[in-house]
Amino acid sequence: MPVELGGGGLDSVSLTLFERELGRANFALQYLVGRPSNILQACTDEQRERYLLPCIKGEKIDCLAMTEPGAGSDLRSMACRADRNGGDYVITGTKHFISHADIADFVILFAATGEESSSRGPRKLISAFLVDKGTKGFDVRPGYHSVSHRGYHNCILEFDQCRIPDSQMLGHEHQGFAVANDWLGATRLQVAAMCLGRAHRALELAVDWAAQRKQFGQPIGRFQGVGFKIAEMRMRLEAAELLTLKSAWKTDQGSATDSDYAMAKLYATEMLAYVADEAIQIHGGMGLMADLPLERIWRDARVERIWEGTSEIQRHIISRDILRPRWD
Ligand SMILES: Cc1cc2nc3c(=O)[nH]c(=O)nc-3n(C[C@H](O)[C@H](O)[C@H](O)COP(=O)(O)OP(=O)(O)OC[C@H]3O[C@@H](n4cnc5c(N)ncnc54)[C@H](O)[C@@H]3O)c2cc1C
Repeated sequence: MPVELGGGGLDSVSLTLFERELGRANFALQYLVGRPSNILQACTDEQRERYLLPCIKGEKIDCLAMTEPGAGSDLRSMACRADRNGGDYVITGTKHFISHADIADFVILFAATGEESSSRGPRKLISAFLVDKGTKGFDVRPGYHSVSHRGYHNCILEFDQCRIPDSQMLGHEHQGFAVANDWLGATRLQVAAMCLGRAHRALELAVDWAAQRKQFGQPIGRFQGVGFKIAEMRMRLEAAELLTLKSAWKTDQGSATDSDYAMAKLYATEMLAYVADEAIQIHGGMGLMADLPLERIWRDARVERIWEGTSEIQRHIISRDILRPRWD
């Protein structure tokens, strides 16, 4: 967040290095450090006083709700809608998988506010809103039990004729995805950076074990079967780090594209899955024991390929950027 708003004012490269270091620990620590969603920078006038500034000061916590039981990767198909009613909007629908909504003070909600015709048929128009906890018709229920990141909960949000004034809209009507695109691209970078930190830690543990654990009279790292794993892990980690830092640097230059973020997120998350798995393999049975941090790193790694856009969606973004100019 910018210094003039009370934030740290870090550039994107510095922020990425900071996220990488936090990533060495766990998501619970990252949340304790607490960073409000970038998208709150789209707040105007009174919204800044009520939401953005208290979040930066750590006095309020936000959560962000897009996903629904019937709309995950295909967010535009969301059923949650906000109907205009005088100077208000009336919201109806359900969101799920919403991270830490149980402890949030308000939700940044995406809902359909209309429909337009497109060459592929009718297309929903989406807007973003700020909805306070405690607003009549808005309930937060416990969600499911995730294998990854057990330091916090995901929740189900129910909106039943929930009425809010139109001053609660974030950005302009029907421009919800535009606001998201303006501010949330770098969240993929954050995921990538966190994966780097975890992978560094897993690799260090694997190297220590390979250097010390003896079988057949010598350290297992002397066996090519183990040593080559270490080489591969190191190389993929280095490649993911370069890709992530390059995207961060391009963000600072104002030239980062969706494809840059997609490549960093895709490669770093898949790298972490590989490194965590191989680190366990090098540890043998001990690797699976919850007494070591590897078991948690391995579990936590799983969600990284799913949230903030699945690996398949990242591949879609990258290939679309390459191919679309040939078709347009
Ligand atoms: C722990 C956790 C926390 C989360 N927190 C939040 C949150 O705070 N806020 C929020 O809004 N959401 C949150 N999410 C939701 C997350 O972003 C979605 O799970 C994710 O976008 C995928 O949607 P889905 O689970 O509905 O899967 P689906 O979209 O149903 O996908 C199922 C499978 O189909 C594949 N697929 C779908 N479409 C295509 C396509 N066009 N081409 C190729 N393959 C495709 C997917 O890649 C995937 O493999 C969270 C999820 C988890 C697990």
